Amino acid sequence: MISLMQSFRIRGGVHPDPKKTATTDLSIASDFPLPKKLYIPLQQHVGKPAEPVVRVGDYVYKGQLLAHSQGMISAPVHAPSSGVVTDIADYPAPHPSALPIRTVFMETDGKDAWQLLQTHTDPFALSAEEISLRVGAAGVVGMGGATFPAAVKLNLGRKNKISTLLINGGECEPYLTCDDRLMQESADGIIDGIRIMLHGMETPQAIVGIEDNKPAAFRAMKNAAADYRQIEVRQVPTHYPMGWDRQLIRYLTGKEVPADGRATDVGVLMHNVATAYAIHKAIRHNRPLVDRVVTIAGGAAGSPGNIWVPIGTLISELLDYCRVNRTRMARLVMGGPMMGDALPIAELPVVKATSGILALTQDEITRGSEQACIRCARCISACPAGLLPVDMANRIRSNQLESAVDIGLKDCISCGSCSYVCPSNIPLVHYFKYAAGELAARQQAQHKTEQTKKLIDERNKRIERIEKQKAEEAARELAAKVAKYTADQAEQVI
Ligand code: SF4
Ligand code: SF4
Repeated sequence: MISLMQSFRIRGGVHPDPKKTATTDLSIASDFPLPKKLYIPLQQHVGKPAEPVVRVGDYVYKGQLLAHSQGMISAPVHAPSSGVVTDIADYPAPHPSALPIRTVFMETDGKDAWQLLQTHTDPFALSAEEISLRVGAAGVVGMGGATFPAAVKLNLGRKNKISTLLINGGECEPYLTCDDRLMQESADGIIDGIRIMLHGMETPQAIVGIEDNKPAAFRAMKNAAADYRQIEVRQVPTHYPMGWDRQLIRYLTGKEVPADGRATDVGVLMHNVATAYAIHKAIRHNRPLVDRVVTIAGGAAGSPGNIWVPIGTLISELLDYCRVNRTRMARLVMGGPMMGDALPIAELPVVKATSGILALTQDEITRGSEQACIRCARCISACPAGLLPVDMANRIRSNQLESAVDIGLKDCISCGSCSYVCPSNIPLVHYFKYAAGELAARQQAQHKTEQTKKLIDERNKRIERIEKQKAEEAARELAAKVAKYTADQAEQVI
């Protein structure tokens, strides 16, 4: 057990107005009316999309498998309620591009009837492998936004002999309070999930980091962990982006993840509190991940709050439930205001990664007009990744993307701290997001060109092979004819 109660240096970061008071004291609502239609995307995680196992017209129970995982990094998708599958087709994804992805459409029957559930009173009697198999089958992914399949992470933990499991209860993004409320209301379940994860990773200890602006959550978690010496609950300063794994690892353990390495390189793995709770439900109650707590906030929300929402619910229904004034809403954001995605429309589904929906007014998003850089270097001091935002932006502006990569563009986590502190209102993070997207598109185009070239080469080789076979066949036939003719001639002479 580390238990040094020692804290290490925080690098960079900012202190945005937390704006959490509107929802932090409200209990999580569980009376959100079940939507008549659900839109369940088959890719809600990092990795390959899930493959449907149901057909149009099938009746499904809540929790029943809709699509199974494919390949090493993937997660299955389950029915968030009972009803009938009405279609499996493309539907816009909750992403700034709203590009369509394969989606299962369901019409709910209002019964919300669960499939038969088996409970496991003693998960610690299960082997570590069995734990990760069951977590994988329940479709649990990282719920802090990363959406990496949780079972893959548990296996990684076991294989890499992880010494410390870090649990992120930071919730450093402004407005969001879904994790705060979950810790206040379900601390026992979260601690149980952490114990199951420790068992599933064969890891000796866990440290939970909670920002010091969540005293009620800290007390609840501390009480729930009191009987478990292997779990330490610690307060961390309210500081953005404290939820970034490298920042939390450095602060709580003093370990520095190498620039081109991973947390596992220093014997640490991080999960979010909501993921721990989902694992508790998956293992103790056999409940797959079919719903989540979503914070609905922002100046245009008449009744902001935290709500248990079935996956696949249209965001527009949540906006109506929270009495969002659409004429006041100037921007719709999924996630927090610093790292979240602006959505073009509200008819997009809630997915496993949807921690928050923000209906922001013009006042909340207005920045001063962009001015010339005054070389104040504030963006450099604010960068938690130790980058040079102003230099990267200048290179991107002059279309030298590779040169921006040379000075660290790929290490940028798009946290927005640099933009936040810039007195000239230069939207630095927008440059980095644009450059990352452009580089990915170029890489994809290059991959496509290479694949096309490979296919053309293969086709040419195939044609060559067939022509050669034909020529050989013709030569054989000719040789046979000549041999026959010669034999016939010889017979006639005799
Ligand atoms: S957005 Fe990127 S460059 Fe800007 S502060 Fe965050 S990590 Fe640094
Ligand atoms: S914070 Fe803004 S003005 Fe200051 S150096 Fe960075 S880009 Fe220039």
